[in-house]
Amino acid sequence: MFLTMDDVLKKIKHFENLLLVLDYDGTLLDFVDHPSKAILPRNKQEMLSKINVQPNVKLIINTGRTSSQMDEIIADKQIDIIADHGLSHRVNTVWKHYPTDTIYWKSKVRSFMQQVCRECPGSFIEEKSFSICWHYRPCEEKIGLHYAEKVHEFVNTELNPGNPRILKGKKVVEVIAAEANKGEIIRQTFPKESDTLYVGIGDDITDEDMFTALQEFEEHLTIKVGPGNTSAEYRIDNWKNTWDILKKLVS
Ligand SMILES: [Mg+2]
Repeated sequence: MFLTMDDVLKKIKHFENLLLVLDYDGTLLDFVDHPSKAILPRNKQEMLSKINVQPNVKLIINTGRTSSQMDEIIADKQIDIIADHGLSHRVNTVWKHYPTDTIYWKSKVRSFMQQVCRECPGSFIEEKSFSICWHYRPCEEKIGLHYAEKVHEFVNTELNPGNPRILKGKKVVEVIAAEANKGEIIRQTFPKESDTLYVGIGDDITDEDMFTALQEFEEHLTIKVGPGNTSAEYRIDNWKNTWDILKKLVS
């Protein structure tokens, strides 16, 4: 907000070591009708690899997608990944999964979402290990928002308050295990180095957890992609600007 793009690039270039945490959907690529269509082209994959092999840079993808989806999406296994909103973590090619109990609420939420899908044609359910999502990207905005509110209400009245959590994303409502958090994993696993700049880029409400965790490091820079309330220090218009920043790291 108070920084210019020049300030951002100067800050990034100036640091000895850089730890770069990037969200995936909406941050590295545009939104599409269905998550399965969000594929990163080869040249962009190559750029991520090129950034990650630099000795003073560490790149990590932090996403709400599942670990198996990310294995398919990011070809380079040397890039570390945080998936499932912090409940899965791939470090040096090996996945670690943090256990959580979703059994008691998942079937209830699933049957409610199935009913919503019948009433709101075009919408669909995406099921993940630790969460269940109702997507309304193909629906008319007003109708989608109305039913998103219904899902919210259902979870709040029929289940324990706060567990599961409800995440209202972009044209999606995700009902997710309470332990899932894109920031907590950062607090628990990132080393605190004073000569490192911790940079986070993300577009969605779930990235706010990531921003607040990164802001606890001595040197940090958090960047929000697109509109909406944020605690990030800087804002860029869209996912293309993420690549403007990334390009500078390899030039
Ligand atoms: Mg996103």
